[in-house]
Amino acid sequence: MARIAFLGLGRMGVLMAGRLLAAGHDLTVWNRTAAKAEPLARQGAKVAEDPAGAVDGAELVITMLADGDAVDEVIFGTGAGAAKLAAGATVVEMSTSGPEAVRNLRAKMPEGTTLVDAPVKGTLPQAEGGTLDIYVGGTEAEFAAVREVLSVLGNPVRVGEIGAGASLKLVVNAITATVPVLIGEAMALADRMGVDAGTAWDALAASAVGGMARRVREQTADDGQPITFSLSLAAKDLRLALEAGAAAEGVIAAARRELGAAEQAGLGERDFSAVVTHLRAQD
Ligand code: NAP
Repeated sequence: MARIAFLGLGRMGVLMAGRLLAAGHDLTVWNRTAAKAEPLARQGAKVAEDPAGAVDGAELVITMLADGDAVDEVIFGTGAGAAKLAAGATVVEMSTSGPEAVRNLRAKMPEGTTLVDAPVKGTLPQAEGGTLDIYVGGTEAEFAAVREVLSVLGNPVRVGEIGAGASLKLVVNAITATVPVLIGEAMALADRMGVDAGTAWDALAASAVGGMARRVREQTADDGQPITFSLSLAAKDLRLALEAGAAAEGVIAAARRELGAAEQAGLGERDFSAVVTHLRAQD
């Protein structure tokens, strides 16, 4: 069993760390807001006071944080992990941070340590059930070294060299974060034309975007609960896609503007389906 440090116990991280613990790994966790570590402590995880304390002696350091800036701060900032990384340690960066950030992080890694990108597709049920798709970027040897541990969390696949996983994740989330905006505009159109909302939802559920329409319908009907993926993280993913080269005047850019407007309206911490309600409320 591996000695693992897990940094970042947000909605996804706490579930992923719980699986590693249940699989018998020697797990030390850290989160900026310490209270989020309590459920894992009750299950037997060691809880560190800072990232350096968590990383000390770990073979693998998993980061599941909001974005690349947060990972940079936690690994290379004051009181951060890098100074305590053991020789041969690997950082497995599982947040959605984009290829530029992971390449920059890798370039800063201390001699004798390394970093791979391993962002995930799937949300809370997949994190809990260990069925995430995991897109790994790194060498064949680095993939071989992390594969067994990542298999506890889902299905790891090596998609190329460093940054390849982060790139693929932006491609996938360009769809995931854009489609709810499209659905919101379609529902706003239905409202304006006087189409019964239930009838419109049923029709969208049977359309090409049926899976997302069903998910968004349920969440908006239940006042955006449970929050699975925050609107601000969805907006961040489209910002990263644009920075990585998505068409500046295209559909993804338009969706990013709408998510940005919803954030400005104070919906950043709501579930990303809140963009639908926001768009339907426009005159
Ligand atoms: P979340 O619940 O918002 O948690 C974010 C985590 O990042 C928290 O642990 C937070 O600490 C930490 N954090 C943020 N800024 C920080 C900083 N400057 N320094 C230290 N810690 C910081 O996010 P999530 O939903 O678990 O998502 C985590 C990552 O996975 C994101 O990159 C997201 O895009 C990606 N992702 C999410 C989903 C999903 O369905 N939710 C699916 C796939 C991928 P605090 O607790 O102290 O705030």
